[in-house]
Amino acid sequence: MTNFYAELDQVFAENLQRDALRMPDGTVWLFADLRAQVARLAALLVQHNVTPGERVVVQVDKSPHNLALYLACLRIGAVYVPLNTAYTEAELDYFVGDASPQLFVGKTARSDVTSLTLAGDGTGTLQTQLAALPADASGRIAERDAEDLAAIVYTSGTTGRSKGAMLSHHNLASNAHNLTAAWGWQHDDVLLHALPIFHVHGLFIATHCALLNGSTMEFLPRFDVAQVQKALPRCTVMMGVPTFYSRLLADSDFPAGPLDHMRVFICGSAPLTEPVFNAWTERTGHQILERYGMSETIINTTNPLDGARVPGTVGFPLPELQLRIADAQGTPLAAGEVGIIEVKGPNVFSGYWQMPEKTAEEIRADGFFITGDLGTVDEEGRVSIVGRGKDLIISGGYNVYPKEVERLLDDLPGIEEAAVIGIPHADFGEGVVAVVVPTDSAVALDAVEQALQGQLARFKQPKIIVNVDELPRNTMGKVQKNLLREQYADLFSET
Ligand code: AMP
Repeated sequence: MTNFYAELDQVFAENLQRDALRMPDGTVWLFADLRAQVARLAALLVQHNVTPGERVVVQVDKSPHNLALYLACLRIGAVYVPLNTAYTEAELDYFVGDASPQLFVGKTARSDVTSLTLAGDGTGTLQTQLAALPADASGRIAERDAEDLAAIVYTSGTTGRSKGAMLSHHNLASNAHNLTAAWGWQHDDVLLHALPIFHVHGLFIATHCALLNGSTMEFLPRFDVAQVQKALPRCTVMMGVPTFYSRLLADSDFPAGPLDHMRVFICGSAPLTEPVFNAWTERTGHQILERYGMSETIINTTNPLDGARVPGTVGFPLPELQLRIADAQGTPLAAGEVGIIEVKGPNVFSGYWQMPEKTAEEIRADGFFITGDLGTVDEEGRVSIVGRGKDLIISGGYNVYPKEVERLLDDLPGIEEAAVIGIPHADFGEGVVAVVVPTDSAVALDAVEQALQGQLARFKQPKIIVNVDELPRNTMGKVQKNLLREQYADLFSET
């Protein structure tokens, strides 16, 4: 049986009376509760004609019910499609159209597809329909092949269109096992889980390590400094994005007590700066363990649990992963040279949902995936990311592709053209800045905010608008964003 849930179910069955999830309000879900809820939800999904391979699109607030829903989809062989809760109706229309789900679960119902509602407190039509099921209702664990789809995770597209990365049961399972080994996961570890669960970091990387090992999670609805401070004394592992660490450091009362019980602090999804790494070490006595992953591959590399964790590097490839630094043609480069990071291994996705051309552009004939990240590998095999191809902006751990924002800005009256860039920001890592050429009088930030409301998730919207006479272009007519980034590098530190 290669259904990843079958393996998890076995772990749950062996740990029935242990705490699976502890919420800040004192609510506890034992593994027995989680397992029972997954089986009942599976029955409900089957009742809604969700069959293996069928998609279930989910856009809800984080909750134990949400996690159980994900596991129920795995259980019956459905394809789970999580969506960022910040996406607006217009964005949601695209995802639902593209994924053509059998079922949508959201905060509110949709008219174009069978829908159930689920609020953060567990209430909604999903709950009422569950309650109406017979007491012994249980959807069975579907037979799955290793390569069968388990999830589609949408990444932003450079062309503005999001691409759905197709991940199989084997992608999830192999990465969960490799991370368990790499991070020395222990049965009695307690994970501080304050990440969202619509993204690979919180949904796969974090929960799989805990679930696969029958370990407890302190399951916070969101990252909140006070709640994290309260939960930390009961934890041994924390996973977060760099913003979590910088926000904790910004609190002069952190840490509230000694952190000797903590085994490891893990960080990823965006570059961790050396000042934050050093300040954390100084304040807590722990070196943050930085690792590197992405929606298409879950985790690629990690700094070692035992051995030097070098700030500014993302460590070594996981055991079964082949990683090379290549030029634009895919020819491997020598150690120390900067090129594009390409990876091949059991964690690497099979392609983009319904985009065979995009898949062919980004996965080479020999199976290597072109990540688009620029990096180096040193003589020891340590990987560093030196920049990003494709001008991706990562703000607060979330990806913002400039093209998507630029397209909307270019359409606004009063803007002739726009270039969107990421500028270093003490809190978010990078902040979104729009450099615009106005048609007439200067463009104001509040006017842009008003125009984008309802069209674009808040985290993608510019935080600063810079008005210029013209954008710098190279001879090929391409906007030279590197020059803009240099020119406005200090914009957020000046404000
Ligand atoms: P996502 O698909 O949202 O997970 O974003 C993946 C991208 O995040 C990668 O392609 C990298 O550009 C970036 N990323 C993830 N982890 C790191 C890291 N530790 N350091 C630098 N960039 C990272």
